[in-house]
Amino acid sequence: MFENFKKIKMPKKFSAWHIVIAVGFFILLQLYLLNPGVRDVSYSEFKRLVREGTVLECHITNTVIRGKLREIERETRKNVVFITARVDDPDLVKELEFVGVKYSGNYESPWFKTFFFTWVMPLLILFIIWRFIFKRFGPASSIMSFGKSKGRLYAQEDLNITFDDVAGIDEAKEELQEIIEFLKTPEKFRALGGKIPKGVLLLGAPGTGKTLLAKAVAGEAGVPFFNMSGSEFVEMFVGVGAARVRDLFNQADQKAPCIIFIDELDALGKARGVNPMGGHDEREQTLNQLLVEMDGFDSNKGVIIMGATNRPEMLDPALLRPGRFDRQVVVDRPDLHGREAILKVHAKGVKLEKDLDLHSVAAMTPGFVGADLANLVNEAALLAARRNKKAVGMPEFEEAIDRIMAGLEKKKRLMNKKEKEIVAHHESGHALIACSVPHADPVRKISMIPRGIGALGYTLQKPTEDRYLMTKAELLDRIAILLGGRVSEEIIFNEISTGAQNDLEKATEIAKMMVKEYGMSEKMGLVTFEQGDRPLFLGGGFAAKKEYSEETAREIDLEIKKIIDETLQRVRNILTEKKEILKGMAHTLMEKEVIEGAELKKLLEELHKTNGGKGP
Ligand code: ADP
Ligand code: ZN
Repeated sequence: MFENFKKIKMPKKFSAWHIVIAVGFFILLQLYLLNPGVRDVSYSEFKRLVREGTVLECHITNTVIRGKLREIERETRKNVVFITARVDDPDLVKELEFVGVKYSGNYESPWFKTFFFTWVMPLLILFIIWRFIFKRFGPASSIMSFGKSKGRLYAQEDLNITFDDVAGIDEAKEELQEIIEFLKTPEKFRALGGKIPKGVLLLGAPGTGKTLLAKAVAGEAGVPFFNMSGSEFVEMFVGVGAARVRDLFNQADQKAPCIIFIDELDALGKARGVNPMGGHDEREQTLNQLLVEMDGFDSNKGVIIMGATNRPEMLDPALLRPGRFDRQVVVDRPDLHGREAILKVHAKGVKLEKDLDLHSVAAMTPGFVGADLANLVNEAALLAARRNKKAVGMPEFEEAIDRIMAGLEKKKRLMNKKEKEIVAHHESGHALIACSVPHADPVRKISMIPRGIGALGYTLQKPTEDRYLMTKAELLDRIAILLGGRVSEEIIFNEISTGAQNDLEKATEIAKMMVKEYGMSEKMGLVTFEQGDRPLFLGGGFAAKKEYSEETAREIDLEIKKIIDETLQRVRNILTEKKEILKGMAHTLMEKEVIEGAELKKLLEELHKTNGGKGP
């Protein structure tokens, strides 16, 4: 395996020396074969030589006069050869006759020899060199192979990135562990007949370390790593992208087990039909080719395709189907501990002041992703160097943080203090309701680290079991949890932010289904107003054909509103009663950024004790 990589990198047969030798050889050839010791003389000198009687013989061609002198060269022991340009000189022949020089006006000048050595030979040598170079870089870079992929092969030696270099995203690392096991010993998995995932999609904001993670998987497993960006596939020329995909998979096939990493998958896999012009454009062809290749691939061969995107909602659903990118790994923004761990990784090569506490640096950088933190360490080190300090200290880190923050704020990637407070109370509202209503799934995690593009924070609930049936009470509780965020903002700040829009949408959707599909409204009774299949053009101008009158529609709307309003009141009551607990939770959340399920339980118990309330 290892030998193979060596060969790819550097064929021993060929090096820069070969070029030097070839060129040198060619020059010598020119000198000794074509013009062996030729003396170049001017025409006037030639005439003088003729008059002096030094010229033994000469050939006169259309353009030059060559000849031999009586003089003998020392080394070769032959007559010295001379050459001169021919000038229009009608008296020359007379003069030659007069002196008695043997002359011939021959046309049979060695034109073939000249032609061969000045034209054929150099071209031949250039061609050989050219062949050598392209053989060395492989067929991929030949001019002829337009469609060949630019996918580079990172040999094992170049890629000594391991999981130690990736910090702060332990969950993602854990999820990828199985892939590594498989790549290491595909035979074992094959023998057991296990089903191996083909495609793994890494989801996360830019700079969270998706590429790094993919490389680390290759590094840990010790397999080659093909890296290609989605935007690279999409070329100006139709068909080139598809050819590249084909070629990339061909290359990977030969190097299995290996990893194909496609960055910016969204550039390639944008949902089809989003293009207003419609039709088959280049990107679509490329995407189709990718789907074909993924389907045609035997996953047991040991090729894992990893994709990365920060806009999963843009992806064509076809990419996410079973057998394609069916495994998804979220690469979160790092929390406080994560940031500290990442800082430690990047501070390894940097001299820090002894009392410098990376934990407090981490505490100052909420919202920073791995790339920002790497950048931060680098900036701080540069500042220290500029100040002629021997080690990097807190002042440098503080200044570097300010600089990077300013840049990030421009890009709207960080929250200001007020926003943070709102998000903390909003998420705490969700969580507190989830802990207060009887039919909710337990809360697994509250986080105010932004995830995806829309959400500034999130509350994760863990379903205790797979659910196929839900009772009315459970659905109502679900609506209550969704409303908890907004109500919390209302109670604490007496105003509502735009952040709750998505929650309201979801809550309304559930209420609508309760009334229209499940017959859960007393007033409307046990009637379904919705037909199974919804029209494709949801949200378009084409309204679905209604099976009921305007009157009924109004009543349905009223029922939905009633469900929402009643739940809203219930949530208001709960949160007003537990206002102090809500504040305490939000406070802790702002401090820790993330609260795990077990911690939350403890925290709630404490808060209940201090606030004299009943148990949750
Ligand atoms: P992405 O592909 O998600 O945009 P990258 O993997 O390209 O992000 O990360 C860019 C750089 O940021 C990495 O090369 C690394 O130096 C640093 N980095 C990002 N995440 C981490 C992490 N979790 N641990 C250590 N370094 C990280
Ligand atoms: Zn919310």
